Amino acid sequence: MNNEHLCPVCLTPTFILGSQTGLLDGREFLVRRCPLCRFFYVENYRIDFDHIYNENYYRGSGADPTVDYVYELENPLRTIRGYEWKGIFSIYKELVSGNGRWLDYGCGGGGLVRFAVENGVDAIGCEEGWIAQRGQMLGIPIIPLSELNKYAGSFDFVSAIEVLEHIPNPIETLLQMRKVLKPGGILFVTMGNAEPWRERFFSWDYVKCPDVHISFYEPETLKRCLSKAGFLPREFMSFNGFVDIIKFKVLKTLHIKNRSHWIDVLPWEAMARVVDKHYKVSRQPYGVAIEG
Ligand SMILES: [Zn+2]
Repeated sequence: MNNEHLCPVCLTPTFILGSQTGLLDGREFLVRRCPLCRFFYVENYRIDFDHIYNENYYRGSGADPTVDYVYELENPLRTIRGYEWKGIFSIYKELVSGNGRWLDYGCGGGGLVRFAVENGVDAIGCEEGWIAQRGQMLGIPIIPLSELNKYAGSFDFVSAIEVLEHIPNPIETLLQMRKVLKPGGILFVTMGNAEPWRERFFSWDYVKCPDVHISFYEPETLKRCLSKAGFLPREFMSFNGFVDIIKFKVLKTLHIKNRSHWIDVLPWEAMARVVDKHYKVSRQPYGVAIEG
């Protein structure tokens, strides 16, 4: 058995599902699949992080043309990203009692952190590189990963929004998040759900930028990851926060950049439920930090 191809989540031997061409320089990426935990991952992922996560990437002219983090950071009241911030904030309110401390892990420029702070929460972000500096210049509290060890057991809520698909070893990263949470603290992660795409994986938009999206999870995969990293996986009882999160995702897919009055008059509650039936975004579990 070739040890190099064991699943990073459950250590089961994996097989090659196919390959996908990157958008950055036409590199070919091998996608592997774990038959046990159903983790999909890019085997030969890029390690030139400074090259891929540069200013171009954050402006939407790099490895993932669907993002524009700089615009969102500079236009918080206009960008449709504001809907997502609102949805995540409402999930925080539901899952955390009182005004618990919040860390946004992999916060980018810190738009969500700023939103939380403006709504009265003691929140900081952690991030590396060009985009972190950009957020810091705007006065958003962002620390580098290397400083996280000073925050052991500090937070009531950790969010990681579209983070886990960018990293090769989810368990390692989840353990870092567990470390900074108080026992009983909440971990909320978002990412696409790979389950509806099980039989047609390569037609999923998420897979189209394998330069940066390298790990893909079904709810069962994420549950396993959470358990291994010291969390109790839980399913959401309420759909409330997902209305705005899905509203953002729909508008992003439609290449709509700015909020507007006509968007807000649409029946989003019903529309989001229909979308969620297909894409099962809300089926990904969250984690409760276990004591010890
Ligand atoms: Zn596995």
